[in-house]
Amino acid sequence: MSEAMRAACRCGAAEIEISGEPVAQFFCHCDDCQIVHGAAYVPESVYAADAVSVARGEPAAFTLKRNPRVFCRDCGTRAFIDVLALKLRGVNGYLLPPGRFEPQFHMNCQFAVRPVADSLPHFKSRPARFGGSDETVDW
Ligand SMILES: [Zn+2]
Ligand SMILES: [Zn+2]
Repeated sequence: MSEAMRAACRCGAAEIEISGEPVAQFFCHCDDCQIVHGAAYVPESVYAADAVSVARGEPAAFTLKRNPRVFCRDCGTRAFIDVLALKLRGVNGYLLPPGRFEPQFHMNCQFAVRPVADSLPHFKSRPARFGGSDETVDW
């Protein structure tokens, strides 16, 4: 088991603490992530909800559809999403210390605006263990 690690926003006002190992690490291409992050796809490191806590600052939250997304109110850095139904928290992979983001797959590739051809599995929606079908796309 790894020790707790900290991840800070870009300005340093907000910091989160992560304990335990990720449930999964992946790139999400969904249209919600595209809107929220202003990006074609987003690296996510998902943990049990109680493994991720706010260690410093008072980040704010907004809800695009059903899950609150927590961000630094000073610099706007997206910190994590609360996936309420599954009791998970998805931390933005780019906040992790170097070497701690090891993506296992791409998901929600049906929404991709910028396909990434690599050796990882490319799930059309989500993997079966996260409520999807395991169906993949051909890139
Ligand atoms: Zn900040
Ligand atoms: Zn997404």
